[in-house]
Amino acid sequence: MKKLSRRNFIKLSGSAAVASAAAGSGLLAPGTAAAKAPAVARSRAADLPKPKGPRAVVLGGGWAGLTMAKYLKKENPKLDVVLIEKRATFMSCPISNLWLVDLVDLEFLSHSFLDAARNNNYLFFNATMVDLDRDSRRIYTDQGHLDYDFLVLCPGIDYNYKAIGVEDPEAEYKLRQNYPAGFMPGSEHLSIRNKLEDFDGGVFLLTVPAGNYRCLPAPYERTCLIASYFKKEKIKGKVILLDAHPDITIKKDGFHAAFNELYKGIVEYKPSFEIKHVDPDKKVVSSEFEDIKFDDAAIYPRVRGAKLLEYLGLADMKNPQMEAKIDPLFNNVVGDKRVYVVGDARPMPYSKSGNTSNSEAKNIAKVVAARSMGKDVTKWASPHTVCYSVVNMEPMEAISVDAYYKRNPDGSFAFDRVKLFEKRTAARGQATLEWAEGLYRDMFS
Ligand SMILES: Cc1cc2nc3c(=O)[nH]c(=O)nc-3n(C[C@H](O)[C@H](O)[C@H](O)COP(=O)(O)OP(=O)(O)OC[C@H]3O[C@@H](n4cnc5c(N)ncnc54)[C@H](O)[C@@H]3O)c2cc1C
Repeated sequence: MKKLSRRNFIKLSGSAAVASAAAGSGLLAPGTAAAKAPAVARSRAADLPKPKGPRAVVLGGGWAGLTMAKYLKKENPKLDVVLIEKRATFMSCPISNLWLVDLVDLEFLSHSFLDAARNNNYLFFNATMVDLDRDSRRIYTDQGHLDYDFLVLCPGIDYNYKAIGVEDPEAEYKLRQNYPAGFMPGSEHLSIRNKLEDFDGGVFLLTVPAGNYRCLPAPYERTCLIASYFKKEKIKGKVILLDAHPDITIKKDGFHAAFNELYKGIVEYKPSFEIKHVDPDKKVVSSEFEDIKFDDAAIYPRVRGAKLLEYLGLADMKNPQMEAKIDPLFNNVVGDKRVYVVGDARPMPYSKSGNTSNSEAKNIAKVVAARSMGKDVTKWASPHTVCYSVVNMEPMEAISVDAYYKRNPDGSFAFDRVKLFEKRTAARGQATLEWAEGLYRDMFS
């Protein structure tokens, strides 16, 4: 009786906490910014204290933005730093796969923007950015406008359903609401967790999109953990993973070993499955050659740079990833050293991960701070990717990767100094939680 255990208890207590957090927080609010602020918000200044120095505004309180706000202030304490974020509560994407199967509780993932701002001496402005005038250096939000000397945009990603053949907005919304990807924090994760609670057997479908998607190992980690949960709870379920790539994109030996040794008969891995169409009513995902039927699913479509960048005219719309048009070394918008884009919205082919965004933000905070003091940074510094993936629940075992990047003579980027740890161990399982605690501490304390 899977529904009687600790899991159900946590579900009850957890959902009350989530409901109250979500109610006042915007966690459950849908979607992206409108293109223009309401007239009143456009005409009035935001209710913020007067700047006490050159103002650096950071948009987006995710892994890049939180790190950027803290380290801008550290690098140049004279900067008056404001972090704009539309959510009121931080909920972590990293470790959320563990939460789906009760390996951690919701408190582990949830953090306060207020604590981050208070501990690091900047202002948290709970608002949605809707427009930008780079000539007058003015940002428009749904809570009024504010002016900047430097602006760092860290808005993350959006989904591109058209890239998996879903052109009809009605079908897209059925997918967003009924089979959410779970790659943007908040309601999507809550929905997937509830789906697992209610799942009584059959096919649970997951997908890996084409291109450079957010968190390369996360869909494989999720596959392992859902399979492990089915095993533990004796659910007659199967996880089908449709991968647009010809093979597992990272830590492939470790994931293949888990699929074959731990989840034979539970996980079915189908590489080179390019989704051409999804029918949310019939619950069918199709490639050119094959139709796959599912009972429930979390469908991860292609990733693109946040739509906000497109609205602001800062996205490269010729590229299928639609990411920011920026200088690849120092992240400033081409021709404008006052505006930067950092984090998963960047076009450089770094791994779209929290650790990468955190380390990149520290590098670029140095660049912005130097420029705010009339100096410059001339040497590019590589971001650092560290990524643990839990592949088994009992015992909790993980594999990991540690990597940097290098610039090739032709200006392209490649992985560098890659260390793969593909043998699953309980010590790495423990290190996964320690890694997350360290990063939360870095952003919030
Ligand atoms: C399931 C899952 C597992 C993962 N596991 C790992 C892992 O183990 N290790 C790891 O390193 N990474 C992991 N990641 C990846 C990591 O979460 C992302 O790479 C990281 O969040 C990117 O940071 P970001 O700041 O660019 O974007 P985000 O963290 O998405 O932050 C963007 C922020 O901008 C805000 N925003 C956007 N538009 C506006 C607007 N108009 N006005 C106001 N605010 C706005 C959003 O609300 C959001 O808070 C995982 C991701 C997922 C989904």
